[in-house]
Amino acid sequence: MLDKENICLSIEKQQIKYKSISPEIVQTSSFQFDNFQHYVNVNMNYEEAYTYTRGDNPTLALLEKKIAKLEKGECAKVFASGMGTISATILSLIQQKDHVLIVNTVYGSSVKLIQSLKRFGVESTKIDVSSTKDIFPFVKDNTKMIYFESPSSQKFEMLDLEMISQFAKERHIITVIDNTWATPLFQNPLEHGIDIVIHSCSKYIGGHSDLVGGVVVSHQHYIQKIDDFGQILLGATMSPMNAWLALRGLRTLPVRLKHQEESAKQMIQFLQQDSRIQKIYHPLVHTDPNLRDKYLKGYGSLLGFVLKNATPDIIETFIDSLKHFTLAYSWGGFESLVMPVFKGNNQEELQNRGLDIGHIRMYIGLEEVDMLIEDLQNALNCAYKS
Ligand code: PLP
Repeated sequence: MLDKENICLSIEKQQIKYKSISPEIVQTSSFQFDNFQHYVNVNMNYEEAYTYTRGDNPTLALLEKKIAKLEKGECAKVFASGMGTISATILSLIQQKDHVLIVNTVYGSSVKLIQSLKRFGVESTKIDVSSTKDIFPFVKDNTKMIYFESPSSQKFEMLDLEMISQFAKERHIITVIDNTWATPLFQNPLEHGIDIVIHSCSKYIGGHSDLVGGVVVSHQHYIQKIDDFGQILLGATMSPMNAWLALRGLRTLPVRLKHQEESAKQMIQFLQQDSRIQKIYHPLVHTDPNLRDKYLKGYGSLLGFVLKNATPDIIETFIDSLKHFTLAYSWGGFESLVMPVFKGNNQEELQNRGLDIGHIRMYIGLEEVDMLIEDLQNALNCAYKS
């Protein structure tokens, strides 16, 4: 593993050389050796050098260094997508006969990935709990990993990170949290004893809906394993261009989040007083204040709500009447987005996942919040006009 301090120094030298304010994009697949002796030294690990971008690259290394610092972790590894990160992490640390416990409404593809490892002899259990201690009876002798999100996707439930980490450490179970919703600015799970933190950089970190990427932050011990197998052998490498876009995104992350947190609060206030909204899902609503104050330093602007007495017609009219919320996957960029969990014929799946047909996921972007509230109100009026 390359020494991150040296990597950073070499970047700083470059910047001094060109006097660029913005970091360099080192857009290369390969790096040249000085001579045969250098080639030998590097391969014998006597000397450190960049050799090939699937292994390491200065632009990727700068992003890793910055995210590790923000997440209060020892080191980080970036990947071509959030799912690339999640699969590299799990496949690097789990083996046949291990058991993985998946807690609450984790991102659907992560659940599918873990469950699909059954064909390699990996067991898993997906549970929904309202209290952290309810997780523990599901832990088995062969449980190797507890994988969760807090706040979680769709329902934004929160778990007590310190309670989980303490329990898991006593049993040598690895704890992995997908912290994408909170970003490294609003929650730092490593400080509470969680072993591994994952982010999809495609959301708030990128911040402009123009890149797909992911990052894992942890102790050197885990990152080394994830690097050796998950990065070098599985090979879902982030491109230098995408790493540069993520570096650009980090520069405005605090101001974007602050603005969006305020907008989310105003939107929630509006939703709370509208009788057509059956339920709101966000940590500011229905979450133990002790839990959220202990772990969250701020609030993301991705939330859920349920349309009262929703029918397919009501959902369709509501979605199609929105003018400033785009119907699209993902979140974290400039544009406000909306996505109903109902996709036309998936009622049974929704029932199994404990989701109401009228459940809507909404992302509050950077637009003027009064305009967004007016848009929502108008769409509700259209949907419930009869
Ligand atoms: N984690 C969460 C919470 C997500 O919402 C997503 C994508 O929507 C992912 C992980 C996967 O990230 P990516 O799309 O970058 O692979």
